[in-house]
Amino acid sequence: MKEQLRKIKEDAFAALNNAASAKEIDDIKVKILGKKGEITAILKQMGKLSAEERPAMGKIANEVRADIENKIEEAKAKVKEKELAVRLAVEEIDITMPGNKNPLGHKHPLSIVIEEIEDIFMGMGYEIAEGPEVELDYYNFQALNIPENHPAKDEQDTFYVKGGKKKGDILLRTQTSPVQVRVMEKGKLPIRIVCPGKVYRADEVDATHSPIFHQLEGLVVDENITMGDLKGALAVFAKELFGEDTKVRFRPHHFPFTEPSAEMDVTCFACGGKGCRVCKGEGYIELLGCGMVHPKVLKMSGIDPDKYSGFAFGMGLERVAMQRYGITDLRYLYENDVKFLKQF
Ligand SMILES: [Zn+2]
Repeated sequence: MKEQLRKIKEDAFAALNNAASAKEIDDIKVKILGKKGEITAILKQMGKLSAEERPAMGKIANEVRADIENKIEEAKAKVKEKELAVRLAVEEIDITMPGNKNPLGHKHPLSIVIEEIEDIFMGMGYEIAEGPEVELDYYNFQALNIPENHPAKDEQDTFYVKGGKKKGDILLRTQTSPVQVRVMEKGKLPIRIVCPGKVYRADEVDATHSPIFHQLEGLVVDENITMGDLKGALAVFAKELFGEDTKVRFRPHHFPFTEPSAEMDVTCFACGGKGCRVCKGEGYIELLGCGMVHPKVLKMSGIDPDKYSGFAFGMGLERVAMQRYGITDLRYLYENDVKFLKQF
């Protein structure tokens, strides 16, 4: 029996030394120490021994069991170490290898221009106001002193939406001016806002037209606001946007919602006013429309035109972006060609 135990221990050590995985070690453990294992089988035979022999043999059996158990732990630790070494070798990371680049997106030229203009006006104390793109005829036309028979109301220019109380009640706004009306209606004075946003007109797509484009309008209403305030504010804006040397000039114009009305030109960004191909020799480029808010418009929105006055202005943001970046065709802004957009 003693010999059997010695043999079991020898075989177990040999097997454990060769074991290459934790699974193999577990199998050996079951085979030797398990309920139906070799040691257990020996211990079952102890009954056959004489009372004198039993304690000595029991002691040897327990020692062998303990030795094997220790050897198993040792073997397990070795296998673990080996597995780790193998894994490290396989998964070795070379920190000098170039990484995978995640292409980082950036802002669309239109967004850049919108945010920059917003920043300029916020710096001058203006708030940003927004309004619905699906608008009522009242806010888009009537409240802006645009008469029923105005050519802009022609179905060829305006996208009408079904569902109003009568035909033509609801439309996609053709300008951001309805936001101004909505702000004036709230009656909180003074007003100093800019409203950027998308507007819609039934235009054919070409180099300078798109059925959807962006406008930014501004409105100031307070006591004693004059044309001088308008000119001062817009001259500062033009310098901030196009550079300190930028000059502005105003030409008389007509809009139904302002009186008097004007268009403002800025000195050409390409030639600085000398005249070139970009400005067609003019030295100036048209930037925006503006004027003193028509007393009728103030009155319709519940503001007393005898006490308050104001100025308003509006510009197409595509035109600003195109001038700014020398883009010659408006369609580039909407084709989402990454190669084109990456330049800005
Ligand atoms: Zn020029």
